[in-house]
This record gives sequence, C-alpha cells and structure tokens, in this order.
Amino acid sequence: MTNEIKKELTGKEVAAAIMADALARSEKLAAAGHRPTLAVFRIGERPDDVFYEGSIKRHCERAAIDCRCTTLPADVAESEFAELLRSAATNPEIDGIFFFSPLPKTFDEPTLRELIPAAKDVDCLSKASAAAVFCGDESGFAPCTPSAVMEMLRYYQVPLAGKRAVVIGRSLVVGKPLAMLLLAANATVTICHSRTENLAAVCRDADVLLAAVGKARMVTADFVSENQTVIDVGVNADPENPGKMCGDVDYANVLPKVAACTPVPGGVGLVTTATLCRHVIEAAERAAK
Ligand code: NAP
Repeated sequence: MTNEIKKELTGKEVAAAIMADALARSEKLAAAGHRPTLAVFRIGERPDDVFYEGSIKRHCERAAIDCRCTTLPADVAESEFAELLRSAATNPEIDGIFFFSPLPKTFDEPTLRELIPAAKDVDCLSKASAAAVFCGDESGFAPCTPSAVMEMLRYYQVPLAGKRAVVIGRSLVVGKPLAMLLLAANATVTICHSRTENLAAVCRDADVLLAAVGKARMVTADFVSENQTVIDVGVNADPENPGKMCGDVDYANVLPKVAACTPVPGGVGLVTTATLCRHVIEAAERAAK
C-alpha cells in the first residue's frame, strides 16, 4: 500500500494483498475444523468460461479453498441442473456457489439464480443479493467485478467521500452495482449510458471516472482531465492488435493527462478472481459464526 496515489494503478499487488489475507483467514477456518468450499458449475465448453474456471481453480488453490467444479454437457436437463443447485444450497460443507452465465437459452435463468441462497451467493447472481446491494445491506455479496473496483480504490487510497464519481455503463453486473458501492462510500455518483448527452463533458467533470462500456478505447483523452483517477473495467478484443485485449480507455493517450489510471490487461481483471476468493472466505466465516 502507498500513501500517495501512483499514476499506474496495477492490479497485481492489490490481488496479492487480497490473496494473502484470504489464505491467512482460510487457514484459521481450517484450523477450527472447516475448509472454505466453493461449488462451481459450468455447462458446456465455452472458451471464456473454461479460461475463467481455470483462473478460479488456481486462485482457490492458493487460498486453500476447496473448489468443487462440476462440468455438465451442453444438453443437460434444466431439472438436473436445478437439483444440483438445490443440493449445494443445503450442503453445509459448501460456502459459496457460482455458475457461468448465460445458461442455455432454453433455461429459466432468473428462476435458477434464485436457488442460490444469499449467504452463498458470492457473485451476486440472485435478485435478492442485487437488491441487498441497492439497499446498502452488507450481509450479502456485491458482484465480484464492482467489488474488485472498490478494492482497487481502497488499496490505492483514492478519496471517494464527497467526490464526483462518473460511471459509464448501467448493466446489472457492473455499472449499476458499482454506482451503488460508490454511493455507499459517500461519492456523488453520476451514471452515464448510450443515451447520455455531452458524455465527454460529463466525464471530464469527474474526480473518479469509471468505464464499464465494452467498447475498445472509447474513452479518449478528450473525456478526461488532470487530477482524475480513471478506472477501466472494460475487457475488449483489441481491434489494433488481433489476439490481444484492451480496455474501454485509450490508455496510452489518457495516462499522461490524468492523475492515475488502471491498465488493461493488468488492472481490475486481475483483482476480480481474488475478490471471489475473499467472498468465499467471508461466507465461510459468517457460516462459522
Ligand atoms: P454491457 O452489459 O454491454 O453494458 C454496457 C453499458 O455501456 C451499457 O449500460 C450501455 O448503455 C453502455 N454503453 C454502450 N455504448 C455506450 C456509449 N457509446 N456511450 C456510453 N455508454 C455506452 O456490458 P457489461 O457486462 O457491463 O461489461 C462492460 C465491460 O466490462 C465489458 O468490456 C466487459 O467485458 C467488462 N467486464 C469486465 C470484467 C472484469 O473482471 N474486468 C467483468 C465483467 C465485465 P445502455 O444501457 O444505454 O445500452
């Protein structure tokens, strides 16, 4: 941790700090007789899901979390999947439940999400968990990506109370919950989206600008001003470098102009899976109480 804000806010050291804390707490729980456990369900072989699952497994191993992965064929019956979720929900050995979304199109995903009890909903898949985030109720878990952003801001001691935070993006998985977490940290929050007028001017006015759009390098130097902290949540295929990825922020041109900015890759994405581990540990600690 540093006392002054660094210009390039990388995710590696934030993730390392979260993982070290998770391991220490996990070992304490294990010594008291309970090994923190995450149940992961994957349907089919979507490459993004397989890649993320690998990352989850590696992180869980490092945090001494028992990661129980169940892979189901793409044509699995909805009733069979529902039964597995019900079983995990009532199994006292399991602290957290996670499945890769979207589920097959024929599944009633909203109903299946509600089978995860709030206490085990470590990535905020159910409406009840989402509602808790909007109510400022900290007994559940916010989605891992917005939580990871808040971890980054905390770690780098970016002031939020009384500051203007502008979030670009209003999805349920990133933009909206992120806005609620920033509000809970006493920021003055503006949410922008595809219909926002004078977007660049609104963004320039922010103390903290957070981009969760899904458009490669859309946030250009024209969107930012000096003294700003810019957080890039975007993960996009890089149109200029096939096979590579880039963020929503035109990093090369934005970084010189602002106080601090997160890179992509190497920023928020690195912290997201570590945050999932932290949520599993927290779920296990709460269950132990
Ligand atoms: P999403 O559901 O597609 O939402 C995108 C949001 O951006 C929408 O609210 C949309 O506005 C807004 N938007 C689109 N074009 C815009 C424009 N020209 N000007 C202003 N706003 C615009 O995407 P998401 O799931 O929230 O993900 C956002 C990004 O975060 C993606 O790049 C995704 O890959 C990344 N992501 C990263 C992580 C991580 O761990 N780092 C995790 C999840 C997602 P409307 O609502 O008006 O359509």
